[in-house]
Amino acid sequence: MSQEAAPASDLDRMLDDLFPYRRTTETFRLIPDEGVGRDVLLSEVATMATAEDARGDSGRVSGSLYSGDHEHYHFLAQVFEHFAHANVLQRDMYPSATKFEGEILAMTADLFHSPQPVGVVTSGGSDSLVHALYAYREQARVQRDVRMPNVVLPITAHVALRKGAHWMGIEVRDAPVDGSFTVDVPAMASLMDDNTIAIVGSAGDYAHGLIDPIERLGELAQARGVGLHVDGCLGGFLLPWAEALGYDVPLWDFRVPGVTSISADTHKYGYALKGTSVLLYRDAALRSQQWFASTDWPGGLYLSPGLAGSRSGGLIASTWAAMVSIGRDGYLARADSILTTNSVIQQGIRDGLPELTVIGDPLFMTSFMSDDVDVYLVNDSLKSSGWRMNALQLPPSLHFCITGPNTQPGVAQDFLADLRVAVDYALAHRGEPAVSGAMYGFGAMPDGDQTLRSVMGGVLDAMHVAAPEV
Ligand SMILES: *Cc1c(COP(=O)(O)O)cnc(C)c1O
Repeated sequence: MSQEAAPASDLDRMLDDLFPYRRTTETFRLIPDEGVGRDVLLSEVATMATAEDARGDSGRVSGSLYSGDHEHYHFLAQVFEHFAHANVLQRDMYPSATKFEGEILAMTADLFHSPQPVGVVTSGGSDSLVHALYAYREQARVQRDVRMPNVVLPITAHVALRKGAHWMGIEVRDAPVDGSFTVDVPAMASLMDDNTIAIVGSAGDYAHGLIDPIERLGELAQARGVGLHVDGCLGGFLLPWAEALGYDVPLWDFRVPGVTSISADTHKYGYALKGTSVLLYRDAALRSQQWFASTDWPGGLYLSPGLAGSRSGGLIASTWAAMVSIGRDGYLARADSILTTNSVIQQGIRDGLPELTVIGDPLFMTSFMSDDVDVYLVNDSLKSSGWRMNALQLPPSLHFCITGPNTQPGVAQDFLADLRVAVDYALAHRGEPAVSGAMYGFGAMPDGDQTLRSVMGGVLDAMHVAAPEV
């Protein structure tokens, strides 16, 4: 009998991309009758982790891995291990969690010049943003009887704010950016009304790393008697060090009088493990809007600071350990190499790649767009040389967010060389459809937005199953 290999279908190839281990490891669809040996599992997990880490460690990935130092990760994992099983809710059993959390808040409040250390540790940037929105919504309801709340956001503010507003029935009003790609303050002012619960500015924004004019936003917020949340999820743990190193950083923190809350991700430039962020409030009254207490539940008196119930003590302990072990010297040194690498890349683009336009002059990332070439074609070429950029839209652009692994010697120079090749590729393939931009094309179809949403939903469905049979 002749055996002919069936040609791999497109679907098969897509499934192999999504489930690369379906051919090399057993796929569990049921809990196995007999437990698999720890040694077997440890070696299987190590194989996957080693293969997956190689990409980030190469220094060719934007954002994502902020430290990249495996000795640091190992240390955090050691600390994590001591409290991995501990439930932060049970403070009588684990008073160490009270120490760790309180000190994370105190150190962060000091860094951001808060008059007092008032805040919460959350599970990530999105979590911090959603809790801030909730506190403002409750404050407006209690103090001003606002029933149809709206929040005014720069169009560039992080999408998690939209998600939170969507969940909580808060209307989002989009303020445009001006020529500097930061929020247009008069436009923001004209979008506010009596039902506005808060306004938001970014320091810096996810897409471009730019800092909105926080001082002007602070004046606006004070004049209208509403809160101002500053989303420092990305820049929060980098900008203070940039300022100390002498970079030109406009005021964005609690030194600006109108700023009433700040989010900053310890799991980004704070170099903690994934799963933590800090949300600080200027005063305890606003924070108490997010407290939840129940006195009449058969399960007993219940008190919790936010959406989460049980939380692992490991994350809080390791975040605290990251901050204390790195220290001011360590944060300064890391920031110095990140900022230097970014300026080499940014200057290289400005001087050597006239086809590309750098958006603003961000400190720790570089985004660029182009009038001459399709930047998604540029991205196709960069991908083939192993780079993983973040693709942006409105306008089409790419960003490279600089983190620890990108500061290795030679990475910036290699990037600029490959970017030159990529621009030439885009010039040579002008008019051809880019692979990177394929999904974005749906947006221009009639009903495109609806179609795109349903395709995106299908992707999530496909990612939440055990690997399909080979
Ligand atoms: C990453 C990021 C967030 C969201 O953080 P997650 O930790 O991914 O939930 C919010 N705002 C900005 C500016 C960010 O860069």
